[in-house]
Amino acid sequence: MKRIPEPFRIKMVEPIKMTSFEDRQKALEAAGYNPFLLKSDDVYIDLLTDSGTGAMSDNQWAGLMMGDEAYAGSRNFYNLKAAMQHFFGYEYLIPTHQGRGAEQILFPCLIRRMKEVRGGENPVFISNYHFDTTAAHVELNGAKAINVVTEKAFDTTTYYDWKGDFDLEKLEATIKEHGAKNVAAIVTTVTCNSSGGQPISMANMCAVYEIAQKNDIPVVIDSARYCENAYFIKKREQGYADKSITDIIREMYSYGDMLTMSAKKDPMVNIGGMCAIREKTELFQAVQTLCVPLEGFVTYGGLAGRDMEALARGLYEGADEHHLHYRISQVEYLGERLRAGGVPIQYPTGGHAVFVDARKILPHIPGDQFPAQALCNALYLESGVRAVEIGSFLLGRDPATGIQKESPLELMRLTIPRRVYTNDHMDYIADALIEVAKNASSIKGFDFDYEPPVLRHFTARLKPL
Ligand SMILES: *Cc1c(COP(=O)(O)O)cnc(C)c1O
Repeated sequence: MKRIPEPFRIKMVEPIKMTSFEDRQKALEAAGYNPFLLKSDDVYIDLLTDSGTGAMSDNQWAGLMMGDEAYAGSRNFYNLKAAMQHFFGYEYLIPTHQGRGAEQILFPCLIRRMKEVRGGENPVFISNYHFDTTAAHVELNGAKAINVVTEKAFDTTTYYDWKGDFDLEKLEATIKEHGAKNVAAIVTTVTCNSSGGQPISMANMCAVYEIAQKNDIPVVIDSARYCENAYFIKKREQGYADKSITDIIREMYSYGDMLTMSAKKDPMVNIGGMCAIREKTELFQAVQTLCVPLEGFVTYGGLAGRDMEALARGLYEGADEHHLHYRISQVEYLGERLRAGGVPIQYPTGGHAVFVDARKILPHIPGDQFPAQALCNALYLESGVRAVEIGSFLLGRDPATGIQKESPLELMRLTIPRRVYTNDHMDYIADALIEVAKNASSIKGFDFDYEPPVLRHFTARLKPL
């Protein structure tokens, strides 16, 4: 197991509060056994998400001081535009406050265009896998979100390079079933967050774009972890080993017409997003028009000038090959240590997280007693590490019957923030989780103390059984 040393040195530190087992017991009880309700101060290593939790570089922090806070036409907007064009080749750019801001201004315009230009009536979006806010914006606009990711994504134990690929046959069948004129867009998510940060191959992106063009359907690239995806292509796909990450990104975006981006992931800013379109069309004008009331004027879209500068610089840093080599290796290293210690995980590890198979560790806890949540709580008590449940607790109940839905997987996600924790922290996490898994038979399930009617996982309170 190879540890790739950090390609940075540390010139400012943030001390973390150290807690005892008793401290953590009290904190978890006060949080209703729901790690979302823990105070961040009571957490030693926070693996809840990689979104907006990355560390900015000295260069990005210096950029903050170069903010031009003009209401319109800020110089930072033009720096951002130049960086965008360098990587993606999409000239028409609208900054937004984060990824979902881009979704909320683009998707209604795509639906309107589908109706007016292509004569469709019942809008659907087809994706390898819609991220949850992406699906929410599709549905809020009265459309249907359909996922056609490869079946291989659901087999956690068998190695496959491209668990983020579209199932091309399913894609074509779905277009036929709904009629091409009703498909408002195809959404290519890179990497595929919902299948575990798993990459999509260049060949698959290309094939998806050909199918889209044949059917006159626009392709939106949902771009949170496009640098990590490019790195996987370089490492795994034939013909890309000698290409630069920048060239790979450019080719990826030649297989799309527009993008939405959560800049809180690969570009390592704490807040920010974008929508960009390759060609100047009526669509771009419609999106700009919607941006003004929802996000802000078209050259700032909810961001301060300084935020746009940090983002422009982060676009270059996120695509740096040495950074990516370290980043992806760090996640892989944690995964390999866990596997060696007998902890079952989604294999291979994806770009930003290790997904631990809680059902395999806790076979004695049924889905409606939330095995992955029980594992998160046990890990926190043991170590102060905060992970997040992706399973029955997140999935919730069938709205019609009120019965707990059956989750295909009960996973605990260890999401690694960028440039924040060292490889020593990875060892600490692995040692703690291996220890917890050894004593798994003593871990008990949970029941509700308070269950909110919607999005319960954020605020529910639990009690141990
Ligand atoms: C995070 C994310 C989004 C939403 O972005 P926010 O910045 O959180 O609004 C959309 N799609 C994918 C794939 C994401 O990972």
